[in-house]
Amino acid sequence: NPFAALGLAPELQSAVADLGFTEPTAVQQQAIPLALAAREGGFNDLMVSSQTGSGKTAAFLLPVLHTLLSMQGEAAAREKTAWDAKVAEALAKGEPAPKRPRRKNPLESRHFKPAVPGALVLCPTRELAQQVAADAIDLVKHCRGLRIATIMGGMPYQMQIAKLQNANLVVATPGRLLDLQRGGQIKLDQVRFLVMDEADRMLDLGFADDLAEVHQLTAQRQQTMMFSATFAPRIQQLAMRVMHEGGARVH
Ligand code: AMP
Repeated sequence: NPFAALGLAPELQSAVADLGFTEPTAVQQQAIPLALAAREGGFNDLMVSSQTGSGKTAAFLLPVLHTLLSMQGEAAAREKTAWDAKVAEALAKGEPAPKRPRRKNPLESRHFKPAVPGALVLCPTRELAQQVAADAIDLVKHCRGLRIATIMGGMPYQMQIAKLQNANLVVATPGRLLDLQRGGQIKLDQVRFLVMDEADRMLDLGFADDLAEVHQLTAQRQQTMMFSATFAPRIQQLAMRVMHEGGARVH
């Protein structure tokens, strides 16, 4: 399986097979291994020039989801170890085993906690955000507990806030994202992976300052991936503002 050869988790390989993808497209073949190679500490920002129809969406979603999945696996293993230790300690003292805490209903406002996603995809328009989120939902079909949320202008705030709870990957248009960030409904300080999809269109639409602000707010960022139809000078300038040195480029 050529997707296995790219190093992707079995859950993602199954999703890709369900979608009928048999071979990675050219941009997937190039970008996915580069994106995954970055994960062991170092930075490896990517600038990718790609057109709609090239398979660019899966080229950034697959490595991001792969890493969220492994981060989630590690967190679950840590939680289990801690819980097992707590149970063993109680039993050793002759106490009854502790009861697992009940899950709280996040839709009740008293249980509201801001969303703290590990990955963020920025899109120029709500149509693109919806499309990217739909693709992400298809790809996480076999991943237990990875949640996708969409934030975009023109949707009722309450609905977005409810759906944001526990989101691991947020797909957003920049203006509404920053509104929610300022309102305290979402925190960006745990974002590890930042994707700017159709960066050229985001600049056309006047989002340059918003992109720079998101960049500043994502202080734990390990990787930025910028996708654009061209590498025009204004895209290069944006890249100089928001990317680390030593990144890779894919044409
Ligand atoms: P995009 O360029 O991301 O808008 O993708 C264009 C279309 O190609 C979408 O309908 C994807 O579902 C599809 N696609 C993406 N990757 C593959 C692949 N490896 N094989 C076949 N179709 C794909």
